[in-house]
Amino acid sequence: MNQNLINKCREWLVKNNISFKENFDLSFKSWIKAGGKIKLYINPSNTEEVKDIVFFLKSEKIIYYILGNISNTLIRDGDIYTPIINLQKIQNIDQISSNVYSVGAGTSISRFANFFTKRGFSGVQGLVGIPGTVGGGVFMNASSYGSCISDFLTSVTFMDEYGSIYKRRKDELFFNWRSSYFHKKNLIILKIEFKFTKKENQLKLDSYIKEVKAHRGFYQENTFPNLGSLFATRNIYKDLSKNSIILYSMYLIHNFLTILFKRYSKTSLVVYRKFSRLFYLKILKIKNIQGFGFSEKTLNCIINLGSKDANKAIELISSFQENISYSIKREIVILDKIK
Ligand SMILES: Cc1cc2nc3c(=O)[nH]c(=O)nc-3n(C[C@H](O)[C@H](O)[C@H](O)COP(=O)(O)OP(=O)(O)OC[C@H]3O[C@@H](n4cnc5c(N)ncnc54)[C@H](O)[C@@H]3O)c2cc1C
Repeated sequence: MNQNLINKCREWLVKNNISFKENFDLSFKSWIKAGGKIKLYINPSNTEEVKDIVFFLKSEKIIYYILGNISNTLIRDGDIYTPIINLQKIQNIDQISSNVYSVGAGTSISRFANFFTKRGFSGVQGLVGIPGTVGGGVFMNASSYGSCISDFLTSVTFMDEYGSIYKRRKDELFFNWRSSYFHKKNLIILKIEFKFTKKENQLKLDSYIKEVKAHRGFYQENTFPNLGSLFATRNIYKDLSKNSIILYSMYLIHNFLTILFKRYSKTSLVVYRKFSRLFYLKILKIKNIQGFGFSEKTLNCIINLGSKDANKAIELISSFQENISYSIKREIVILDKIK
């Protein structure tokens, strides 16, 4: 892929009246606020446009990639020639029957969670505050505070690189902890059908949403740009404990103090986590990399301390992964090789 092909794509998009952005700057637009410039960031308004784009790119033998709200993806620095398809204009929520809805893949997860919770449906209220799109959420099988995006999902409609459209039932999509059928396939999730089977008292749902927001604000990183959890684990300290006796001992102490502080002093817990992070980084021999670090609230979150240089963040993550023998599955998507 080179500038000539980019120019050809650009002309085609203009001629076909399809919306796109040029030199889309990841250091402004991504959640980690770092990375290069995407030459063509294409924003189709409907499935027909997605199909036309896929046909055109296929006919030109151009490989594309799909992104949602870039809240779980770290993309390298420099110019990125791979055209990116983004569905954030496809955010319709259509009612099919009293409790069955079809949701466009570009809908934000927070809007999705609020929409159904306000109608008294129970099951997605815990997802409030996840900054991604529903398409990205289905790809990742996003979950939080007792709600998982695939809980009430019945089917997903998606497109392959030939523009063929498929509809698959939930049991064919292999949802697991932070993974799904869509991993490593470059399929485009277009719309998702949900069937809600539980109703709940509105006041109870509203107060739960308030609790979730307060809990997120207190326990999760909210000062520096980040991508949520770095690793797909429910407890990073427990997973790290499998690496050495020292880390195992640290985990036992960590567990004891966490239970104690959670019960008697939540402020002390925050202070304790801030210091325990330093011990962990020392024991794990993680390199100091200018511009990026780990959240004071949890070791499972990489933060941007004021750099635009995504390659440094990638280096920091590699240094973490190299220093642990018992590997932990990474949650965030790293596009370091994208052309
Ligand atoms: C502050 C913060 C808090 C977070 N909290 C949580 C949490 O509590 N729980 C949780 O699960 N996650 C959490 N996340 C991570 C992230 O928001 C979710 O994983 C979200 O689902 C990613 O959606 P996205 O649209 O941003 O995806 P992106 O980062 O844009 O993409 C992620 C992957 O999904 C693929 N993808 C995106 N859209 C589509 C599509 N339409 N079709 C096919 N593939 C697609 C991309 O190709 C990429 O591989 C958090 C992130 C942040 C920054």
